[in-house]
Amino acid sequence: MELPSGTDNHRTRRWLLTRGAATAAAVAVGSVWAAPSAGAALATVDMELVLVAALVDPPKADTGLTPGCGPHVLPVEQALDAKNYLAASAVDGHYGTSTITAYAAYQQSLGYTGIDANGLPGATSLTSLGANRYTVIHPVRAGSRTESYGGKRVNARTKSMLANADGKVSFSITLTQGSYTSSNPDSAGTHDGGGVVDIGVSSLSTTQRWQLVKALRQVGFAAWLRTPDQGFAYHIHAVAVADPDLSKQAQAQVHDYYFGKNGLASHAADNTPSSYRVPFTWWEKYSRG
Ligand SMILES: [Zn+2]
Repeated sequence: MELPSGTDNHRTRRWLLTRGAATAAAVAVGSVWAAPSAGAALATVDMELVLVAALVDPPKADTGLTPGCGPHVLPVEQALDAKNYLAASAVDGHYGTSTITAYAAYQQSLGYTGIDANGLPGATSLTSLGANRYTVIHPVRAGSRTESYGGKRVNARTKSMLANADGKVSFSITLTQGSYTSSNPDSAGTHDGGGVVDIGVSSLSTTQRWQLVKALRQVGFAAWLRTPDQGFAYHIHAVAVADPDLSKQAQAQVHDYYFGKNGLASHAADNTPSSYRVPFTWWEKYSRG
């Protein structure tokens, strides 16, 4: 499914009508939600779509839904409400800051700390929360956090993504910074969690730099070429969309990418030429083809 950008309701509804009744019924979440009752079939929660909402929704100025994600967020919010982590008024299919905070509190109740209690669902906590309420499909796992790619630390999911993107270009990807590192103050916390890398581009032509941005985006990274006029030496900063280990700062960059912005404090327009842009996606969706 290709997610349209923007939150305009009319645009979204027209898009839904082209997708058939079943999808439309599943996505039209604003009005109807029935609590689970004895004997009723359990709801289905697509973890990939919950993660997308949890990344795209919080910085929004309103409580707009991310198209396609609301029906998967709702059962999670219902469960958080049932455990008194979330107010009923915030059970709306919008995975905003209230839901992030509530989910983080639930993770802490399970004994998680640090990046494991970042408010983004992990497969284990999401399944636990949904006991007798919903079934989790499309679980997302970062995998081992101590893998390396070219000598830099990454998780297993990021490593697979980089290897796939490398196969799309005629040169090799060279990391200059990996993940799970808080040692670089220039990175403003974006590399503190998983899923985030910097790639050196000094040996690449301008065209090759953009080709690499495109290849990274195709496999599910929010990737941007950083430039001197933004205050950086040339490099590519890439954030793995839907990685459950993303730091708070990296989470907000996925929101920016989704809405065609640059992921910097300016939130200016993405400087990527249109021919190197691709539809918003993530690794598991890309891998399914
Ligand atoms: Zn970076």
